[in-house]
Amino acid sequence: MPSDFLPTPLQFLKGVGPRKAADLTRAGLVTVEDLFYRLPFRYEDRSRMTPIASLRPGMRAAVLGEIKSARLAITRRRGFRIFNAVVSDASGAIRCTWMNQAFLADILHPHLMVVVFGDVKLDSTGLHFLNPEYERVTDDVTGVHTGRIVPFYEKAGTVTPNMQRKLVRAALDQLPAAIPDLLPAELRTRLDLAPRRAAIEASHFPPNEASLDELNAFRTPAQRRLIFEEFFLFQIGHAWRRHAAGTERKAFVPTVDDRIRAAAAQILPFRLTPGQRQAIKEIVDDMQRGQPMHRLLQGDVGAGKTIVALLAALVAMENGLQVAFMAPTEILAVQHYGTIARLLAQSRFRVDLLTGSTPGLSKHTVCSHIERGTTNLVVGTHALVQENIRFHRLGLVVIDEQHRFGVEQRAALRAKGLRPDVLLMTATPIPRTLALTDYSELDVSKIPDLPPGRTPVRTAVTPESRRDEIYQLLRHELDRGRQAYVIYPLVEGSEKIDLKSATDMADHLQAEIFPAYRVALLHGRMKPDAKGRVMQAFAAGQIHILVSTTVVEVGVDVPNASVMVVEHAERFGLSQLHQLRGRVGRGAWESHCILLYQAPWTDEARERLKALASTGDGFAIAEKDLELRGPGDFFGTRQSGLPRLRTGDLVRDRDLMEQAHREARRLVAEGGLVGELLQFVQERWERQFGLIEVG
Ligand code: ADP
Ligand code: MG
Repeated sequence: MPSDFLPTPLQFLKGVGPRKAADLTRAGLVTVEDLFYRLPFRYEDRSRMTPIASLRPGMRAAVLGEIKSARLAITRRRGFRIFNAVVSDASGAIRCTWMNQAFLADILHPHLMVVVFGDVKLDSTGLHFLNPEYERVTDDVTGVHTGRIVPFYEKAGTVTPNMQRKLVRAALDQLPAAIPDLLPAELRTRLDLAPRRAAIEASHFPPNEASLDELNAFRTPAQRRLIFEEFFLFQIGHAWRRHAAGTERKAFVPTVDDRIRAAAAQILPFRLTPGQRQAIKEIVDDMQRGQPMHRLLQGDVGAGKTIVALLAALVAMENGLQVAFMAPTEILAVQHYGTIARLLAQSRFRVDLLTGSTPGLSKHTVCSHIERGTTNLVVGTHALVQENIRFHRLGLVVIDEQHRFGVEQRAALRAKGLRPDVLLMTATPIPRTLALTDYSELDVSKIPDLPPGRTPVRTAVTPESRRDEIYQLLRHELDRGRQAYVIYPLVEGSEKIDLKSATDMADHLQAEIFPAYRVALLHGRMKPDAKGRVMQAFAAGQIHILVSTTVVEVGVDVPNASVMVVEHAERFGLSQLHQLRGRVGRGAWESHCILLYQAPWTDEARERLKALASTGDGFAIAEKDLELRGPGDFFGTRQSGLPRLRTGDLVRDRDLMEQAHREARRLVAEGGLVGELLQFVQERWERQFGLIEVG
């Protein structure tokens, strides 16, 4: 293995003094490797030389010629100086003018050969280059700034793009012919990847025959090789951790027989969709393995995830195991409890509810039932497994509406020495490339279809000024016995104002618009039991219009509601709007989602609302959301599971992430993670990708 030049600190490069090294460090460039893996953000073709006689005003061109004369002129404006040089080739001559760069007089002497690149201008003084890039040409030096396809770097602190270009060139000149490569040789051959050194060189200083379009789209073999390398190293760490987790053994392994299948058929109130059947099959297969399940169930709002989870719970309970079923909010926990208790009413299983507002005495009773194992299934909020509750035989944990790993919950479980099966559920479809980063260690099941008989929701994007029409539509629906939501955004920092507008709206609707109907307000500041009462009354049809802040966003299921009005829709994210829309369209009748916006709105907001109106497919919406917002903001807040990437882009290079994911899992499965690659995963992986170790 050749000794490695890449970790060399930049200060040891020729031409980098302590001052420059400090500047580079501040810009995040410490080692030679940092420098190489900070790729140009675009490239420009300066390889073709234009004969001076063919230059025309407005052209951006390079010429190669000899400096015939050079002169520094002092202007009348004090301290303002102009350097003029005349460059000539076989076809003609042109003047080059630099403003305020007097030092050029020391560099660009007559008789030197130079390449000049820039914009050709025409004014009263004639045709000339204004402030062009220049480079002296000698026999043994190839061009760095001109005369080739030239890389452009994002400015980083005091490190200018030209400085970085020069530095990269210098570092490349000192880079040994052979450098180590963490990518396994077999992989390199099979995928036909360029050697690492060549890829680095060609990503910064491409050969002149490279395609400029491909370069600027980051699709040359050299660039893709470096991006693949980064993605692969990222995925290999996940694959390794997943493999390591797979060596864990759970205490109780359920089995499934005909008796259990019959019991499941007993509780089913409807026929499962093919998507639900596939998901439950994957889940139950997992449950019968010796390793703890760690699976994410993705399904659009209304896809019917609850019943799938309940069937998994039934398998656990039939095997004498306990189930913890957790929801993100009390409202949802109460609702799940209701659904589950109803479906299991005829069974021999005891279902309990345990939330923050369960009174002390019943809490005590429930806890002792859990401890003795007489509670078979307990529904609660996400804190359920973290609290000081001892389970008798916990076999399955279901975590509803959880975007993240359930990392905290898993850690809490481990701390108690428990290794149950874990099923996470989310209605926020995760774009595939994010699923490959954030959820890379999870197995994923999808419910791609919706239960039959749903009519798609009609979505309208309507300006606030046409509010009256909306009220007409509302009245029409209410008169037919339907119910409606009116949602207000809660913007961080302005809760008070937003709460006030929601309150005012509720009063206004009740007193002036719909006096014959009941309007109620629901918001995040209400006490849990007050919230629960409002929600229950709405579910029971006693409340007709529910004015709410976004607390109803996740999970709530009231099939009779047929109108969703979103106020200030321009303030909501795409996925969030999709979630809200999913609250309606759950019954047999046609439903409406009205996105009210207030001008002025941004182009991005317009595109968001348009995208939502044009499709009901949650996965398509999620991809669009990712494109519009970028990975960092996709979930609303920055996620710690997203890697810090140097060369790759999660959206642009998604195909490479797929490939890297496949190859990494394959290598680990075949036992190929050895030597330096293994060492990388164990010692450098987390740091390199800025990941925080949890759970
Ligand atoms: P989500 O995936 O959003 O959690 P739910 O589990 O709340 O969806 O299901 C939404 C609604 O669809 C519920 O009223 C549920 O009873 C109903 N449902 C689920 N699966 C089916 C099915 N296969 N056939 C008919 N209705 C179903
Ligand atoms: Mg749900």
